[in-house]
Amino acid sequence: MAREQNMTKKAVVLGIDIGGTTSSFGFVEQDGTCFAETTIPTRPREPAEYLVTSLCKRAREAFAPFAAGHELKGIGIGAPNANYYTGIVQRPINLDWDEEVPLAELFHSQFGLPVAVTNDANAAALGEMKYGAARGMRNFISITLGTGLGSGIVVNGEIVYGSDGFAGELGHTVVDPAGRMCSCGKRGCLETYVSAPGLCRTAFSLLAERTEESVLRAFSFQALTAKDVFTAACNKDCLALEAFAVTGRILGVKLADAVAHTSPEAFIFHGGLAASGDLLLVAAKRSMEENLLSIYRGRIPLLLSGLQGLNAGVLGAGALIWNEIKL
Ligand SMILES: [Zn+2]
Repeated sequence: MAREQNMTKKAVVLGIDIGGTTSSFGFVEQDGTCFAETTIPTRPREPAEYLVTSLCKRAREAFAPFAAGHELKGIGIGAPNANYYTGIVQRPINLDWDEEVPLAELFHSQFGLPVAVTNDANAAALGEMKYGAARGMRNFISITLGTGLGSGIVVNGEIVYGSDGFAGELGHTVVDPAGRMCSCGKRGCLETYVSAPGLCRTAFSLLAERTEESVLRAFSFQALTAKDVFTAACNKDCLALEAFAVTGRILGVKLADAVAHTSPEAFIFHGGLAASGDLLLVAAKRSMEENLLSIYRGRIPLLLSGLQGLNAGVLGAGALIWNEIKL
């Protein structure tokens, strides 16, 4: 009888998206239907175990009303610096965690279910492939533009993890070896130019070099946000438009390099800065085309995420574990 009941239960996985300020989870069915989505503060100054305990408790509470009709099959987690091979999070920049946190093991010990982890940018790519703009694609690159630049590279239908699990960090490829300082300790990384803070840095350097009027001159460096630059650009402020054009040009050059490495069918963009759409992507596309080898020209679209308005991090984490488990 118990067996019969089990057979009628719908399989579901728990998708968890751990971020620097908030963490979210939700229960994801194989078709992408997501329920009981919940967001809690990450409390980045506390040890990882606090967050794990809190997420497990809240997830159990959230699942309880659905337990009669659903069976939990596994847990997928996207987290900064999470390593798919080892299940360990190593030195996440925005979290005061131990050097190495065995995230997969901590969740497995709580639920006794299969657990897979990967970094948040790879989870986003998996979410696009299963539920979003990359459905049906086997080769694409997903780029998340926010406080940094995250990327997930898919080749032949699989995320590229490389020898150690850390492959695919386009954000820390170098635009200018003598360029801007990066939070990673290097200079001139792509994300120091192409990210929300990077756009603001470019806007300020234009304000210093040029004399045109601009509403951005009223802002202090601390106060200026990418949203302000976006709003000014929408109002045809010439320096704000130029800041987007410069950012797009730099992005396009690196996209062209990435095409030479993996020949993707498309690039897919997520995140706050990506929402500025054509302001950034028209310049990026033009610059990419100018820098592409001719065999690649004219056939690689820059697309926006197909998961806008949905919790892409949770769906991506769900897609990660759906790819691992066999029903
Ligand atoms: Zn860097």
